[in-house]
Amino acid sequence: MNSPEDFRQKTRCWLEQNCPLEMRTVATQKEYYFGGSRAQFSSETHRLWFKQMRDQGWLAPGWPEEYGGGGLSQAKANILSQEMDALNCRLPLVGMGLWMIGPVLLEFGNEAQKQQHLTAIANGEIFWCQGYSEPNAGSDLASLKCSAKIDGDHLVINGSKIWSSTADRADWMFCLVRTNNSRPKQHGITFVLVDLASEGITINPIELINGSAEFCQTFFDDVRVPLTNVLGEIDEGWTVAKRLLVFERLAIGNIEKSFSSPKPPPSMLAKKYLDFTSGHIANSALRQRIAKNEMRSKEISLTIKRVEEEFSAGVLSATQTMSILKYVTTEEEKCKLQLTLDIMGSQGLGWEGENFDEIERQAVRDWLLSYGLTIAGGTSEIQLNVIAKRALLLPQ
Ligand SMILES: Cc1cc2nc3c(=O)[nH]c(=O)nc-3n(C[C@H](O)[C@H](O)[C@H](O)COP(=O)(O)OP(=O)(O)OC[C@H]3O[C@@H](n4cnc5c(N)ncnc54)[C@H](O)[C@@H]3O)c2cc1C
Repeated sequence: MNSPEDFRQKTRCWLEQNCPLEMRTVATQKEYYFGGSRAQFSSETHRLWFKQMRDQGWLAPGWPEEYGGGGLSQAKANILSQEMDALNCRLPLVGMGLWMIGPVLLEFGNEAQKQQHLTAIANGEIFWCQGYSEPNAGSDLASLKCSAKIDGDHLVINGSKIWSSTADRADWMFCLVRTNNSRPKQHGITFVLVDLASEGITINPIELINGSAEFCQTFFDDVRVPLTNVLGEIDEGWTVAKRLLVFERLAIGNIEKSFSSPKPPPSMLAKKYLDFTSGHIANSALRQRIAKNEMRSKEISLTIKRVEEEFSAGVLSATQTMSILKYVTTEEEKCKLQLTLDIMGSQGLGWEGENFDEIERQAVRDWLLSYGLTIAGGTSEIQLNVIAKRALLLPQ
């Protein structure tokens, strides 16, 4: 095969020829394509772009070709990602299938499970959701109670899961269930793949403060799931669950690409909303915060680079790396959006209605979501605990 430089040249040419100009602008949240049986493309151009990338195997470029991937080495997959960034190409497919359960299936799935699910994920046919949290098990996830009993060649699940994002639109859920109460809590958990069309499942959306209903509570009432859907060993799903969290933190930490809508930087908004005297922002407190934000953004991108290099050099483990990235990027996003709203003043108060333009409405929604992202995938406090224990080796 050709050298990395040849591959870069060919990839750039291919993207220039195949990525429509309309797909070279940042997507809004509504324009993301999550795939699945009920999915719709935001436009015909998006459908074509998706198809071109799928036919190359580049929706999951680093996965083996036999599972619908592109078979690229990590180095080449990185080149593809860099070239897509350089042209501002949109991600044609996003979601928990590609980012979370797919990589875990590659590591822990048996051949039949890989055959059943991976190509479908890589082709955007299945929309996955996550069933980890319960009303009394969030940060202390291992205390979860949703129970599953073995009955012949099935598990029978009873209980509920909460905060399952987009479960009402999903086809399948990867789920943690308690299969053993007599062992230490981490050793009685099983990781299971549940078809949401199974009998006995009720999914109720939960409306949020920002007006959307992204979350659901999912109830299981004698739901029968074949034992062949267990990923890893019965009672030992905690190992699989922790590995998935590393991929989840990577996806959330990579905030600009995964969960974010386009946002003008605070310094640019200042020109529209703030008064200037002699070329300077008149409000000195906001001026200082904007300057600090610019510096902080640069510091963060350098920190991300350093952490990635330390990870590649084996100084940091995947768990430490993802916790640091998740903590730093989500906390920074929250500060940046707070500053954005402060710059907008009274225009930063509404998420709907004619008095606010789309950038203003989106800024308020993003600000509300930014708090959620410091909680999802493990709260900031939990990330700090992981960093303290595993990266800084501080005493308990
Ligand atoms: C946007 C969003 C999307 C989500 N999507 C999903 C999903 O798809 N599927 C899913 O299963 N779950 C999902 N969740 C749930 C998420 O995983 C939990 O909210 C999170 O793990 C925290 O659990 P909790 O809400 O029960 O809070 P708690 O665990 O009750 O925590 C409450 C507070 O106590 C603090 N705290 C708890 N323990 C410690 C400790 N040991 N040290 C220091 N501080 C501590 C926490 O940091 C937090 O501030 C989502 C949450 C959000 C906000």
